[in-house]
This record gives sequence, structure tokens and C-alpha cells, in this order.
Amino acid sequence: MKLLDGRVAVVTGGSQGIGREICQVFAEQGASVVVSDINGEGAENAAAELDVAGFTASAIRCDVTSPEEMHVLVDGAVEKFGSIDVMVNNAGITRDATMRRMTLAEFNQVIQVHLLGCWLGTKSAADVMREQGQGAIVNLSSISGKVGNIGQTNYAAAKAGIVGLTKAAAKEVGFKGVRVNAIQPGLIKTAMTMAMPEDIFTQREQEIPLGRAGDPRDIANAALFLGSDLSSYITGVVLEVAGGRHI
Ligand code: NAP
Repeated sequence: MKLLDGRVAVVTGGSQGIGREICQVFAEQGASVVVSDINGEGAENAAAELDVAGFTASAIRCDVTSPEEMHVLVDGAVEKFGSIDVMVNNAGITRDATMRRMTLAEFNQVIQVHLLGCWLGTKSAADVMREQGQGAIVNLSSISGKVGNIGQTNYAAAKAGIVGLTKAAAKEVGFKGVRVNAIQPGLIKTAMTMAMPEDIFTQREQEIPLGRAGDPRDIANAALFLGSDLSSYITGVVLEVAGGRHI
């Protein structure tokens, strides 16, 4: 018996990086996976790879900032697989700049994708899960939302907002058997962090007590824990997966 046998999972921003790895781990644990991304072709490719490997997966394009597209995603997942048992709100972008240089557009864009996107995903999935009487929602925050990083007033604000959103939502839907939790990854090796100047990446890596940057699988395993019955009595928590950085 696998941890997600018979379960249906939706992962936003699932075509690459952490989201792609969450899709992989969930599929390995028996879930039917809906890979979603603003990059529709990327989502199709990721779902096809899972399919070829013998797993059950489907792709639905969704820009998480659009309420209409979020409805298409959630309705599509239910239509295709019959339920949504795990929703992972993972889609993200960075538009780093110090406050002096950050434009209003860069601030708004990051807030929209992370905070609005996470709210729409949580709200829409909770609508389905409330009716089912069970479900688990996992929101991707960041250690940046706990400690703040220079050049990330937009991103840190959005990621801290996701913590409040997660806790409030957990209180609203717990009585219906729906759990809502967040993960705060530290420095994880993906396209998002590979875009950082090498010296800054190295400097940050040296601050990590476990002595290395994380792999997407480190986050995917935490998402598996929060998305499965292993965490059946856990809701409204923020799980730091950061190798001990910023404890
Ligand atoms: P990534 O490799 O850049 O992947 C993010 C995915 O989200 C991309 O496929 C991206 O598509 C997609 N996306 C962007 N805007 C979207 C939108 N409006 N609607 C739907 N999908 C959208 O990032 P990652 O490093 O895997 O990060 C995944 C999550 O973990 C993010 O929420 C991030 O903030 C969080 N996180 C990451 C780290 C880290 O060290 N990597 C640390 C803390 C938290 P495009 O490429 O086409 O834009």
C-alpha cells in the first residue's frame, strides 16, 4: 500500500523545479496527478513523462492569478479523476530588486502570483474538499517570508502572507476534515535559485547547518508528508525545510 494510493493531486507550477518533483514523488506514491502550469507545453511534457513511466497523470494549463483559469483547473481535475484529495499551491516567480529600484509592477506581479494565486488555489480546492469531507492543501511559502531577504520586499511579503492565509484557512475548514499547511523551503537547487549570482548562492549555502543546498526532492518529501495521512492530525503549521538555515 502506497501513501497516496487512490488519491488525486493537483500541483500548480508543476512543469519544473520543486513542483515537477512533487508530481514525481506523488505519482510514485500512487496518486493520479494533475500537472498544472502557466507553461501549458511544459505541463503537457511533464505529464507525458509520468505517463510513459507508467504513472497516471494529466496536464491542465492554468495561470494561478486568474480565477477563471483556476476554476477550469479544479473542475477539470474533478472531471478527469473524480476528486481532489491533495492541492499543492506551488507556482511562483521572483522579481528581485532593492526597494529603491523595485517597480510597482514588480511588487504587484509577485504578490499576485504567490499570494492571490495561493488564495485562489486554497479557496477553490477547499470548495471541493469540504464537500468530500476530506483533503489536504499544501502551500509553498519560503524562509524569505520568515526572515526577509534583501531585494525581496515583494517576495518576502507574499511568502509571509501565505503563512497567515494558511493558518486562517486551516481554522475555517478543519471541521470539514480539510487540512491546510505550509512549507518554507530554504535554498533549493532549481531554475529560480540558479538565476542568483554564483557568489551569493555560495555565500548562502555556507550559512546552512546541514552544509548543502536542498534538492527539490527534499521539498517533495515534505509535501508528501503534509499531503498524506502521515500528517492526519496536523493542520495550520509551517514546516521549515531549510537544512537548519535561519532556525
Ligand atoms: P521554478 O523552477 O521557477 O518553477 C516555478 C513554476 O511556476 C514554473 O514552471 C513557472 O512557469 C510557474 N509559474 C510562474 N508563474 C505562474 C502562474 N502565474 N501560474 C502558474 N504557474 C506559474 O521555481 P521553484 O524553485 O521550483 O519554486 C517552486 C515554489 O517554491 C515557488 O513558490 C517558490 O517561491 C518556492 N520556493 C523555492 C525556493 C528555492 O530555493 N527554489 C525557496 C523557497 C521557496 P514559468 O517558468 O513559465 O514562469
